[in-house]
Amino acid sequence: MNRPDLLVRLESARAAREQAGLLRRARTCDALGSRRFVRGKTLTDFCGNDYLGLAGHRDLVAALSRTAAAEGVGTGAAHLVSGHRGEHAALEEELADWTGRERALLFSTGVMANLGALQALLGAGAMPVWGRGASLCVQDRLNHASLIDGAQLAGAELRRYPHGDADGAARQLDARTGLPAMIATDGVFSMDGDVAPLTALAEVCRTRTALLYVDDAHGLGVLGPQGAGSVSAAGLGTAEVPVLMGTLGKALGCAGAFVAGDAAVIEAIAQFARTYVYTTAMPAALAAATRAAVRLARFDRDGRRERLAANIARFRAGAAQLGLPLMASGTAIQPLPMGTPAAASAAAAALEAAGFLVVAIRPPTVPRDGARLRITLSALHTADRIDALLEALTRLPRPVESAVV
Ligand code: PMP
Repeated sequence: MNRPDLLVRLESARAAREQAGLLRRARTCDALGSRRFVRGKTLTDFCGNDYLGLAGHRDLVAALSRTAAAEGVGTGAAHLVSGHRGEHAALEEELADWTGRERALLFSTGVMANLGALQALLGAGAMPVWGRGASLCVQDRLNHASLIDGAQLAGAELRRYPHGDADGAARQLDARTGLPAMIATDGVFSMDGDVAPLTALAEVCRTRTALLYVDDAHGLGVLGPQGAGSVSAAGLGTAEVPVLMGTLGKALGCAGAFVAGDAAVIEAIAQFARTYVYTTAMPAALAAATRAAVRLARFDRDGRRERLAANIARFRAGAAQLGLPLMASGTAIQPLPMGTPAAASAAAAALEAAGFLVVAIRPPTVPRDGARLRITLSALHTADRIDALLEALTRLPRPVESAVV
């Protein structure tokens, strides 16, 4: 029997990716704090997003176990059916309060939050095909894939502007006036670690009645007063950023995501976001654990944000002293450009041999020639391990200068 064309095509795309040395592979690792156990070897994780070290915190584990014992594991239904529990409602209220918004709406992952919220906002509730071309979505070139996909799912006209360029965003909006428009941006860029020019983008939106949507996956818990994120660090509120998206699987150490804004806006998103309406609600036990994480991240009684900031400062100062050409980032994401995918992969393997888990980030996740080591810091890292990583980095073959992005 002939193989279906779609399988043939998929297999050849995979083979081409393998030939280009760009296959991605999951490695199975057990976790304890910032340590990872891979094939019998203990590695320090310098590529995860557990920035505050909350994933293994006893309060989260206790809340999760207690609630699972009382309520079971799965919710068994979508929020709008019978899956919405008291823990979800309380978590939504606490997230809204933390981020200074009227209401928050939970999603099961950040990808689903972006797909659903953008599809609802840009598609005006229409089925994707009916909404085609009915709105304009202007995005930073380095936005997360799920923002791009959300705009496409909505059938919006998608235009991208050069990274961090608010004037470029304005030009893209002005080139297509007449359509209801949005600028969508990461708050902190996931592969570069820099912060979006939120104040300038807010001004561009204000003067053009466009909506500013910020995905703060990497800013929430880390930046701003009480860790409320990059938007609050920039002094912006709901008037300037009507829809804020945050994830719960990074600094909060859990899993899931939310969008927050005025109650009427969030209610409308809940009506139309298909990734909200048609999917099973996250386990109530996970919501309970996340509530514990929100308390720890927000009030930060044990100084985790300060420890993270000290670790970032130590790493950057050490790298400067050793002449390592880090990218310009002040956040927990500290990429080291490696140029070619092969150089990045070889560097990651050398670091693994030296006891560090740092994954090579290669195209298409980053632009061509933009392969890098995406080093991330956590409040859990000790000064010793940071210094040892720096030392290991100096032993890597240096990337060629022209490859620095
Ligand atoms: N947005 C950004 C900027 C991200 O970095 C990520 C995580 N890779 C997501 C959204 C998706 O979040 P989640 O992992 O919860 O699906």
